Amino acid sequence: MEVLFVSDLHLDASRPAATEAFLRFLNVDARQADSLYILGDLFEYWISDEDQNPHYQTIIKALAETAASGVRCYIMHGNRDFMLGKRFERESGTTLIHDPTLIYAGEKSILLSHGDTLCTDDTSYQRFRKIVRSKWFQGAYNLLPFALKRTLAARARSRSMSILGNKPPEILDVNQAAVEAILQQYDVDTLLHGHTHRPAIHQFEVDGRMMTRIVLGDWYEAGSVLRWGATGPTMTALSF
Ligand code: MN
Repeated sequence: MEVLFVSDLHLDASRPAATEAFLRFLNVDARQADSLYILGDLFEYWISDEDQNPHYQTIIKALAETAASGVRCYIMHGNRDFMLGKRFERESGTTLIHDPTLIYAGEKSILLSHGDTLCTDDTSYQRFRKIVRSKWFQGAYNLLPFALKRTLAARARSRSMSILGNKPPEILDVNQAAVEAILQQYDVDTLLHGHTHRPAIHQFEVDGRMMTRIVLGDWYEAGSVLRWGATGPTMTALSF
């Protein structure tokens, strides 16, 4: 039994090496696994499932082939690709999972999250998130013609870039109290997330119980992959 976890690939035509590495990962590594979890921000941005961007279509096709080979493929929304929807799900053969989701790898319960909801110190981002994830916003957005969606998405991206001085918005780390609260809410001792681009395995005690927070890395310099086999988790890097 092996379960693979990745997040924050931020795939985009501007970084072809990352996409090539992900396609190789799907065709080779993932085929040996029972399941693959993509914990958000697979894509640098996702305007709508109507997007026929050939770069994204290549990735969707590779996911569909991996899923068809018998690997269960799950995907969670990130803060960049939260508009991934039912058509994407159908065409890619993946299953969209809720944030957070509790899974079992062997005997182990693991709480999965993208991680942005844990960055509670970033109050302006949390306000923005609440709006764009609301049913009314998504309903109204989905009624717009694709060209207008594309314009709005580009404007939102350039605005968040200029506010943050051209740094990507993933600048703040998670809030420890938010981490402890979600672990206690789900009564688990292991949380796995991405988003912050700070790969690490943190251990800490809450009310006498040892807790573990595993953070996946991004796919900027190399591919960050967490493999969960019979002996537990191993963090690996795929070179581009
Ligand atoms: Mn993110």
